[in-house]
This record gives sequence, C-alpha cells and structure tokens, in this order.
Amino acid sequence: MYDDTAPSCHGGKAELRQAAKAAGLTETIERYAADYPMGPHDQPQSMCPAFGSLRVGLRMRRTATILSGSACCVYGLTFTSHFYGARRTVGYVPFNSESLVTGKLFEDIREAVFKLADPALYDAVVIINLCVPTASGVPLRLLPKEIDGVRIIGIDVPGFGVPTHAEAKDVLAGAMLAYARREAEQGPVQAPRAGRSERPAVALLGEMFPADPVGIAMMLEPMGLAAGPVVPTREWRELYSALACPVAAAIHPFYTASIREFEAAGRAIVGSAPVGHDGTADWLDAIGAAFAVPRAGIDAAKAKVLPAIRGALERAPVKGRITLSGYEGSELLVARLLVESGADVRYVGTACPRTRWSEADRDWLQARGVMVQYRASLEHDLAALKEFRPDLAIGTTPIVQRAKEMAIPALYFTNLISARPLMGIAGAGALAQVVNAALSNTARFDEMRDFFDPGPAQSLADQAIGERAAC
Ligand code: SF4
Repeated sequence: MYDDTAPSCHGGKAELRQAAKAAGLTETIERYAADYPMGPHDQPQSMCPAFGSLRVGLRMRRTATILSGSACCVYGLTFTSHFYGARRTVGYVPFNSESLVTGKLFEDIREAVFKLADPALYDAVVIINLCVPTASGVPLRLLPKEIDGVRIIGIDVPGFGVPTHAEAKDVLAGAMLAYARREAEQGPVQAPRAGRSERPAVALLGEMFPADPVGIAMMLEPMGLAAGPVVPTREWRELYSALACPVAAAIHPFYTASIREFEAAGRAIVGSAPVGHDGTADWLDAIGAAFAVPRAGIDAAKAKVLPAIRGALERAPVKGRITLSGYEGSELLVARLLVESGADVRYVGTACPRTRWSEADRDWLQARGVMVQYRASLEHDLAALKEFRPDLAIGTTPIVQRAKEMAIPALYFTNLISARPLMGIAGAGALAQVVNAALSNTARFDEMRDFFDPGPAQSLADQAIGERAAC
C-alpha cells in the first residue's frame, strides 16, 4: 500500500508530486493541476494552502476537523486558526516514519474518525491529508463514507498540488457539495433552517463581508429573485439549498471544483459581481438573463440601485495612484471599485489563477490601463511598487512592510479591505472611507522619511526586490 521510504517535506515539489502519483494519487494530482493551474509563477508565496480547507471546516456548525500531517505543519496551522479566532479544537493524528510506511497511520486515522463520529454532535467529520501523508498515499478514500449518519469527508490538500489557501477552500467546499449532491439525488434532504425561499435564488460563491449578501438580496428583489446561501456554507444543510438554486454567482472566481458540482446539478454560473456602477449593471443583466427575467424587471432592478451607487461614488471620490495585490480572490473587484471612485489604479496582482469567471473584470480593468497579474508572486508585487511608486499600496504583509520602508502609505488587504462591504451601494462608500484615510497619511510618511534619512530606507526596498528576484 505504501512506498517503503516515507517522502519528506524537505523533498522538492516535483519529487513529492511523483511520490503521490506512485502511491496511487495520480487522478487527484492531475485534477488539481487542471483545476488550479500554475504559472506564470509556479506558486505564489503565501501561508500553507491547507489553512483554507481547515478554516472552511472550522467555521461550519456541527463539523469536526482532523489534520493528518507533520507536527510542525499542524502546529503552524492550528496556531494560525486560533489566531484568526477559531473556537474549535483541531484534531490531530500524529505519525512517525514507521506508522507512515507500514499503513498504521491510516489505521490510526480510521480509529480517530470512528471515535469522533457521534451523530449527536456532528453532521460531518473532515480529515485533511497535508503534504507528507498525501505524498505517501495515505488512502483517505478508503475511509467509510458515513458512520452512524455522520458524513466522513477525506481530502488531500498538499502544498505541492494546491497553490493557494484560497483554492484549498474550494477543495473542501467542492468535496462537500459533491457529497451533498449525491445525497440529494438519492432522496429528500433536510430543509433550510429558515425554510425554503419562495422566490428563485442565486447561490453566492466566495466568502464575503456579512452585509454583502443582504445588499445583494435587495438588488435582486425587483427581479423577483432572492439571495441564496453563501458557499462555503456555515452548516451542512445549506449545501442542499445552495445546490437547489438555479444559478450560482461566482463572486470569487477560483471555485473551480464547486462550480463543477453546480454544473453537474444543471445550474447556470454567472461570473463577476455587483461592484460599482458598471459591475452592478452588467451583473444584474447577466443574472436577469440567466433566469430569463423580462427586460422590464431587469431595468427596474437597475433603476433602483444604479443611481444610488453613482451618487455614493461621487460623494466619496478617491484621488491618488494605487497598486493593489492580495490572495483572497476579490482583488479585481476591489480594483474596479477604486477605478470607479476616481483612483488611478496601475496594478492589480492576485495569487489566484485566471479563470473565465473573472474575464469581464479583467477586460474592464485592462481597457482602463490597469495591469492585471494572475498568480502574482511577491516579486511581481514588489516590482509594481517600485515601478509605479503609488500614493497608496494595498497588499499582503510583505508588501505593506516594503511600502512603509519606501515612505508610502499602505493598507493590509485581508484585514482592512476584505473586512468591509464591497457590493452595491454599501461597497461604494465603505471602501473610499478607509482608502482616503490611508491616503491622507502621505504627509506624515514624508515627514518621517525626512526625519530618518531617505537613503537607507529606499535602498532597503530596492535591495529586497533584488534579493527576491535572485532566488
Ligand atoms: S502541509 Fe505542506 S505546505 Fe503546508 S506547512 Fe506543511 S509542508 Fe508546508
């Protein structure tokens, strides 16, 4: 069942991929390569991808999560999940070289799953194979699919197969949707907690600020439509309601496995999102067309919301040159909103891959002279910082650090941009507020730079770019 030598996480990615294939995971590795294409950079620098799957599981009610991987990886992942406020225990099945190569680890996982699968406590138990157990072929597919009514979901989420933590969210969401779709095909399933919607609904793909689905629901109402569940869901039965929606909106465009499940259920997919004036107009048109809503209904929905969005954008203009990068999957949407607010956006980098669901956003941005970089690496983002010398840099932690060294005001994308509404009227005002507050810091940064001597600070950033490029 196993190789006689355990692959180590110090091996190269190619070696680990090869080991996983030799251990019987060819199909999984090839599916990941198709779902989450690499390039131009083979893997953006970000946290352990498995964090995405772990976070999705930890946020669900009545769901237990077990990690199978090296102790150092598990330590890092549990530390990060508690740092981000997970109030759940993360299960761990430890191993050593012997239990890995003899198959004892799989037996230990199986035993742990049986102990944990209590239907009074859980709807589902998720087991995540990290790099080493995946490369060793620990066969989670051989676990029972269900124990006393508790679903057992085993997934492989290796760093050498899933490039970003964003896409790892899709690995678990897709596996859960596949499971729920099979259940729904076999017979009646649990109804939503709040009862079934009387109006046809749109499932929303991608984690978003809690007020956004509410705003989307208000925008859909004149067309006789409702907002469905957000996927990844917060509880198991929402998966059925999501799959029952005739249309899924790929608000975040990287949910490839989840979209495959919606399409297998016969659902239509609509890309982009109701962001800013133009984005909202196009999105309402696309949703209306997907539901065959009469023109008058679509026009009524647009007339209700578009003038208000225009007004909000005009009341809160953003003036300044901005570069933006992140790994959430919403970077292009944020850039659109900034451009519509009047900002001079020069560069958008996203760690996520190019998919057809963000093509409209990409076209719109490029038509306005914005450089769009998919699978952006730190080197791409730093080079943009150096080339465009923005008045504000929005990005990941290392970008924010470099920007500050260059006396450029900076905002951390995940904490400060993702944590506020983006859609419709609420999005138009909220983003401008935080961006303008940061832009107003320019004079303070100039003062600090003059005080501390500009020379070394600038050379530090340039040196960092040179060092990374040489790696
Ligand atoms: S599971 Fe893989 S990618 Fe994640 S921390 Fe461990 S070695 Fe790195």
